[in-house]
Amino acid sequence: MDFELSEENRIFREAIRDFAQKEIAPLVDEAEEKNEFPRQLFPMMGAQGFLCPRYPVELGGGGGDKITECIMVEELNYVNAGIAGSLMAQSGLATQPIYNYGSDEQKEKFLIPAIQGKKIGAFGLTEPNAGSDAASIKTRAVRDGDSYVINGTKIFITNGPICDYVVVAAYTDPTKRGEGINLFIVEKGTPGFTVPRKLDKVGNRSIETGELVFEDCRVPAKNMIGDKEGGGFAQIASTLLSGRITYGSRCVGNAQAAYDMTVKYAKERVQFGKPIIQFQATRFKLAEIATLIDVMRTYTYRVAWMHDAGKNVKREGPMVKLFCAENLQKILSDCMQIHGGYGYMMEYPIQRFWRDGRLFTITEGTSEIQRLVIARESGY
Ligand SMILES: Cc1cc2nc3c(=O)[nH]c(=O)nc-3n(C[C@H](O)[C@H](O)[C@H](O)COP(=O)(O)OP(=O)(O)OC[C@H]3O[C@@H](n4cnc5c(N)ncnc54)[C@H](O)[C@@H]3O)c2cc1C
Repeated sequence: MDFELSEENRIFREAIRDFAQKEIAPLVDEAEEKNEFPRQLFPMMGAQGFLCPRYPVELGGGGGDKITECIMVEELNYVNAGIAGSLMAQSGLATQPIYNYGSDEQKEKFLIPAIQGKKIGAFGLTEPNAGSDAASIKTRAVRDGDSYVINGTKIFITNGPICDYVVVAAYTDPTKRGEGINLFIVEKGTPGFTVPRKLDKVGNRSIETGELVFEDCRVPAKNMIGDKEGGGFAQIASTLLSGRITYGSRCVGNAQAAYDMTVKYAKERVQFGKPIIQFQATRFKLAEIATLIDVMRTYTYRVAWMHDAGKNVKREGPMVKLFCAENLQKILSDCMQIHGGYGYMMEYPIQRFWRDGRLFTITEGTSEIQRLVIARESGY
């Protein structure tokens, strides 16, 4: 058993940390204020193989493993969850189905430019009346000659307002619940595809999140991912499973940043004649947070390692997301408490991490859904 990161992983961490601090951190305040993703980051990161570190070098990726991707996600989230979330949607949700199940032509046209940061991708599964119960989506794709005609509405879609293409889940056969779903690549500018609303969020404000509408939207049949009708639900499930591991690192990055700024604040803030870090109540909270972060990080790496080793992680993937996202809530609450009234002021950064991290028990499968899956995979 080896708990050390590999030499490659360590070098990668240094490089991505340096990039995040130098190139991303200065953009955060403006992005948060304007609710706009700094789009120049896509090509900048793509050129260095940072955007999609796990895809093969031949496709423009970093040639790394799942742990490499986790390191990237942790370092980006340490700086800003919104920017990280937008980039994660590209490296995970929007490109993985094409990488795993797409045709050579789809890889050439959509995957490689996305890895290079020349195209921005989005992933459209959730609908106004179908969130946790994804199999109840209403979007339909009906075959008509060499095309499919798509009708439906998607909601809460990360990168929706800025995407060049979206991978959309739609029923080709609505009589087969779950089984009759397929994924389609729909390009921006396709008649019938619109983004009528950019959504205003409590946190993760540098992600641009949208509502997507498809009205008699005709896409070439070759834009369907996979070579037969049906089977899209399995493609979605494998994409989400991989994302649940990465989500552990999203939580770790946010938690580590909140912890570091709280330790600093507690050393500086003086009450009753001494820095508040000297009060046992503060020290115990911080000691518990440090312990939780270590366990969250170590467990995430373990399951990332299992994933790389080709082991079944259908139970452990949801465990990572559940454990990390739930414990993050306690961490953020304690960090806010240690900051006192100043923490609640917009001028102190802890409020942003607190608002951003609140999302993590909700998106990419709520904590309740992770518990349901863990129970099912445990055989009860
Ligand atoms: C900022 C943001 C970005 C997002 N990005 C994307 C994206 O890029 N692409 C995409 O497709 N989706 C995206 N989503 C959607 C996200 O995945 C869903 O919000 C999430 O899956 C939950 O669905 P819902 O919001 O409809 O909640 P609901 O499913 O309505 O759930 C409401 C509550 O009921 C609980 N609940 C539901 N069913 C059960 C059950 N069987 N047992 C116990 N409790 C249950 C839930 O846990 C939750 O607490 C995003 C969401 C947000 C907020």
